[in-house]
Amino acid sequence: MHFSSTSQQTTSVPLKQAVLKGLAEDGGLYMPASIPVLPASFFEQLHQLSLPEIAFTVASAFLLEDVPAHVLKPLVEETLNFEIPLVEVEKDVYSLELFHGPTMAFKDVGARFMSRLMAYFTQDKSGEMKVIVATSGDTGSAVAAGFHNVPGIQVYILFPKGKVSPLQQKQLTTWGDNITAIEVEGTFDDCQQLAKQALADKELNRQGRITSANSINIARLIPQSFYYFYAYGQLQQQGKPIVFSVPSGNFGNLTGGLLAAAMGLPVHRFVAATNANNVVPQYLQTGLYSPRSSVQTISNAMDVGSPSNFARMEALFGGELEQFRRRIAGYTFTDEETRKTIREVYRQHGYLLDPHGAVAYSGARKFLAEAPEPAIAVFLETAHPAKFREVMEATLGEAISIPARLQEFSEKQEHIVPMQNRFEELKAILSQA
Ligand SMILES: *Cc1c(COP(=O)(O)O)cnc(C)c1O
Repeated sequence: MHFSSTSQQTTSVPLKQAVLKGLAEDGGLYMPASIPVLPASFFEQLHQLSLPEIAFTVASAFLLEDVPAHVLKPLVEETLNFEIPLVEVEKDVYSLELFHGPTMAFKDVGARFMSRLMAYFTQDKSGEMKVIVATSGDTGSAVAAGFHNVPGIQVYILFPKGKVSPLQQKQLTTWGDNITAIEVEGTFDDCQQLAKQALADKELNRQGRITSANSINIARLIPQSFYYFYAYGQLQQQGKPIVFSVPSGNFGNLTGGLLAAAMGLPVHRFVAATNANNVVPQYLQTGLYSPRSSVQTISNAMDVGSPSNFARMEALFGGELEQFRRRIAGYTFTDEETRKTIREVYRQHGYLLDPHGAVAYSGARKFLAEAPEPAIAVFLETAHPAKFREVMEATLGEAISIPARLQEFSEKQEHIVPMQNRFEELKAILSQA
């Protein structure tokens, strides 16, 4: 299968090139040149299939021409070597817990898949590859976990100074070895812009291979469709329309869902749930898309003012506002509302939402309240609450327990390379190695 750029100014490329380049030459994002529709028999069987079985079928539809089954099958199984439970929080509202991977955020799914695919595509080549990743909090550590001590790969994480939670920062900065954590005096959008600039820079590309591990990479997007099929399968026999509420920042997770729908998964609607960084809900409401600087919130991994995957959603909807509106409902919530939701859901149902999951839960509830017919809402719980310990404890007024996997990070020494928001500084850092 070939992949084409959302900017449509270059010809389509094979999978390997799309994965190793990250961003298309014309600055666009790669999308499958055509989206395979899966057979009805697959959808009928969904409830009987395991997550790795579903993932292998979905991945095969995109990758089998380029990655043989005997490689792809174990790759998918290793990616998903943790549970993704679907938990009923209250009647018709389910939490899809995507945080049981090694760094305890949903980013593990895409990062584990991508790192293994990149390692497969580079195994024959000698020489180093630089992987650059901008993070709003969780992507950096998931990518670091995927690539730590992989020979021939150097990872550079760009994170916004003072805008990630203390535990997230520990998870970014304590790896050492082939992982470098760069603290940027700026916002996530600045980090993302710097990463894009590095990928497009002719001189850096001459020095050696360089790629991106952000959700702009198609190898992260495809696996983010797997769990929509899996969750749907567990609920389909209830016979009600199924809605997914996705806590969104860069919109890679939601675009994964749209991909599943384009492959034939009969999702009723998607809810784009955002914090105050609400350019997409505003677009749905007014028809005007106006990206702007991000503002800081307690759901910091969604503090994105110019979401990269908007270009992919536009490509899927042919740029038509009405198509967007037909498929996606957009809601936005303040930090105050998010805190209130965390408290209420904990008191009423004993379920601990993290600030991102709380935004998604609120989106699910709002959709159900406004829907003319009964439906089931699945909200994506994208991170373990303990990653946001300070916010959680201040919100609940009580201590929460920290899983050993996170505790380990907090005991390690941080290593940080600081820089201003200037591309020349980044270039100097990348050229040193
Ligand atoms: C990255 C992230 C999000 C936002 O996902 P996008 O794909 O960027 O929309 C939501 N919640 C958490 C915990 C995240 O780490």
